[in-house]
Amino acid sequence: MALAIASTFVLGGAVQAAPAPKAAAARADTAYLSQADAFARSARIANVDYVLDFTLTGKETFAGTTSVSFDLKDVASAVTLDLNKATVKSVSVNGKPVATRYNDWFITIAPADLVKGKNTVTVAYERRHSTNGEGLHRMVDPADGRVYTYSHFEPAAAQQMFPVFDQPDLKASYTVSVTAPKDWHVVTTTRETKVDEAGANRRWTFKPTRRLSPYNFSLHAGPYQVWEDNSGKYPMRLFARQSLAKQVVPADWFRQTKAGLGFFEDYFGIPYPFEKYDQLIVPDFLYGAMENAGAITFAEARYSVPNMTADQKQSLTEVIMHEMAHQWFGNLVTMKWWNGLWLNESFASFMGVLATAESTEFKDSWQKFYQTGKQRAYIQDQTASTHPIEVPVPSTANAFDNIDAITYSKGGSTLKQLRHLLGEEVFRKGVHNYLVKYSWQNATLDDFIDTLGQTAGRDLSGWTKEWLYQAGVNTIAANYSCSNGKIKDFTLTQAAPGKELPTLREQRVQVAAFKIEDGKLALVKNVPVTYKGASTAVKDMNGAACPDLVYPNYQDWGYAKVQLDQRSFGTARTRLAQMDDPLLRAMLWQSLWDGVRDAKLPLNDFIAVALNNAPQEKDYTLLGDVLGKVAQSKSYLDAMRLDTAWAKQTSLALEKMAWDGVLAHKGSADFQRRWFGLYVGVASSPEALARLAGTLDGKVDAAGVQVNQELRWTIIGHLNRYDHAGSAALIEAESARDKSDAGLAAAVAASASRPDAKAKADWVQRIEDLKSPLPFSRIRVAMGSVFPPEQGKLDEQDADARLARLPAIDKAAGPVYMRAYAVTMIPATCTPHSVQRLARAADTMKDLSAFTRRSLLDTLQNDQRCVAIKAALTAPQQ
Ligand SMILES: [Zn+2]
Repeated sequence: MALAIASTFVLGGAVQAAPAPKAAAARADTAYLSQADAFARSARIANVDYVLDFTLTGKETFAGTTSVSFDLKDVASAVTLDLNKATVKSVSVNGKPVATRYNDWFITIAPADLVKGKNTVTVAYERRHSTNGEGLHRMVDPADGRVYTYSHFEPAAAQQMFPVFDQPDLKASYTVSVTAPKDWHVVTTTRETKVDEAGANRRWTFKPTRRLSPYNFSLHAGPYQVWEDNSGKYPMRLFARQSLAKQVVPADWFRQTKAGLGFFEDYFGIPYPFEKYDQLIVPDFLYGAMENAGAITFAEARYSVPNMTADQKQSLTEVIMHEMAHQWFGNLVTMKWWNGLWLNESFASFMGVLATAESTEFKDSWQKFYQTGKQRAYIQDQTASTHPIEVPVPSTANAFDNIDAITYSKGGSTLKQLRHLLGEEVFRKGVHNYLVKYSWQNATLDDFIDTLGQTAGRDLSGWTKEWLYQAGVNTIAANYSCSNGKIKDFTLTQAAPGKELPTLREQRVQVAAFKIEDGKLALVKNVPVTYKGASTAVKDMNGAACPDLVYPNYQDWGYAKVQLDQRSFGTARTRLAQMDDPLLRAMLWQSLWDGVRDAKLPLNDFIAVALNNAPQEKDYTLLGDVLGKVAQSKSYLDAMRLDTAWAKQTSLALEKMAWDGVLAHKGSADFQRRWFGLYVGVASSPEALARLAGTLDGKVDAAGVQVNQELRWTIIGHLNRYDHAGSAALIEAESARDKSDAGLAAAVAASASRPDAKAKADWVQRIEDLKSPLPFSRIRVAMGSVFPPEQGKLDEQDADARLARLPAIDKAAGPVYMRAYAVTMIPATCTPHSVQRLARAADTMKDLSAFTRRSLLDTLQNDQRCVAIKAALTAPQQ
């Protein structure tokens, strides 16, 4: 699976010892499955086969009959079958109707109704479609009234569609038949064997699948537009809603898919495990994408935008590769339990970037990874609530507590480091051996590490302990002196984050030294070194010319925070634009930004550097990062709500830089979109807002920027955020023009962001109404829009009461809701008062669910950071 929202997943937490799996006498009456109950069940059950029959009408309810056959080891206790909130019509076991207990979460079959050996349980039921993106989600297209469905099961939502042993270590085959309206396509893991006419419907019959974990199986149905490409080794199809068809570019999808399949077959040395490659662009998706075997789903809000920029195309390519990597690592070989989720996601994140860099036109994907995923991992790993990569997951309620930057990006960075440590070919061979050994089975972290270790001929247990079972990021620094113009006594030091996280780690990095020559920073020495412990002598550096800059993680092999020595920091600050290598330039920008975040470099100094250097940035990928940092600087300024001349001038200077950037890149659409995006983000003066409004009605020429529907909405949202004259009417007018799903979502965002106390109160009420008739996808949009940073005063009006409501909301809502609510709606307004309020809540609200508790702690820490950055300003305070 790929994450949808880049920056908001920040969490972690205390770790308990893993509960020893043991047979529980009776399963607790809850919606969730504990690891103990899951392992007790899989110890008794084997050889599972499902025969699934569905009747889909497009209405709000669907009907199904499931026959599940399995071998049972003993009849000493009952067997439970997961089925969430269905109306059960009948249950029979081995052909006989039986009375069962059903508690809305699982069916309990009495031992007396079962036999030792093979059993078949048949359940007929009905259920409402889900509308929150899990189970069999149903969506009515507002543009044309057509109904679309798709399934999403990870981690444990297959039970929202059919009765199932919903745990990854009970792999099974699935034989599917579906009755659906005549104009629908039905897509699942295998291709249909036949489609029969049945009155107003058609009946689809599919081949049995290979053995899959329930969360890897899927079924999608609706009047989707379909594109096909059979030019490669495997048939490929792409699906999207009909009303979106115009903005889909199937050729891009097929080209990258074909390249990826070739790359992975070659890299893994194992043929693609499924017979066809279907990809569906689906609405209301909770995440970025999902690797369902042979029928992958993608979030249309992210991957089906009109006129994609080069950056958006690169992100699409990386996510295609990420989900493709899972077809082997995840679907062919699967984690035994949800504590293995990180390995699944880390590996796919790592391979997704590798495949993109090596088999497509996006050669700088590792640079993009450094700028994005890796930075998110560093940020999260420095929070008080960070957690080790490998953590116990006591129950399915906690399965997604850790879908975050540690799981995806720190894990991916760690595998990247391991590849450097072991050597590229040894690493590849080890992965091949692992996939061959555990094909169509489940495996654990130990299985993976043991196979890599055996291939490499080295014991990796120490490495595993340091990297996977201990949280935190080490800081590395170069220490040396110079005499007679030469380096002497060069050592590389590493420091632990603190007493709570004392681990030092073994790591292979490159240490590089640079000198200013002819106005450029030139590489004079590069030494690969494997270090461990607090201090490692790097003898090969001694004798090199005394440098102007030393960077101890050159080319980003390592996972470490780099602390530049004073001279190097000064060089970075003044010579940014003189460094040719864009990855190194990205790292120097990052060092400066780290300085801001740690309240060591005043934000006003950083902004001054940015105003001088950002306009000169010629690397498209890095420009995105730099302008992102500029936008974050503006967000900090907004959150501080400074009423000073400097703040006003700075705001205007940022607007001017952004607009000049738009003008300077006329004719270069991708660069222009970056600059225009910044302009829309930082515009707050009446003149800038008027200019934006003018681009909507064509009165202002945006220097050739094509203001498409998506951009129009972004502008309308921004104008509303600042209550620009006439902006409220724009929402209505635009909604009348654009009746698409994306348009409706954008209208919600614009309306929620208006700086109006009454409207805020209404939106908060709608957001917190757990029975809201609004689709959850819209509620999520409202959560993310209702309190932009400059509206701290409005946020304050409800802040005390809202924070006080948190425990009750946490208790009443499920994890899907809280994963969005807890990262957006806990009030933090960048004042000492707000910090105190959060600190009090952290002291008193100890019984929150794990994810919500971590979000509260992280919100507190972020608010403290904002206050510290404000205190570190050296700009005039008048
Ligand atoms: Zn994934």
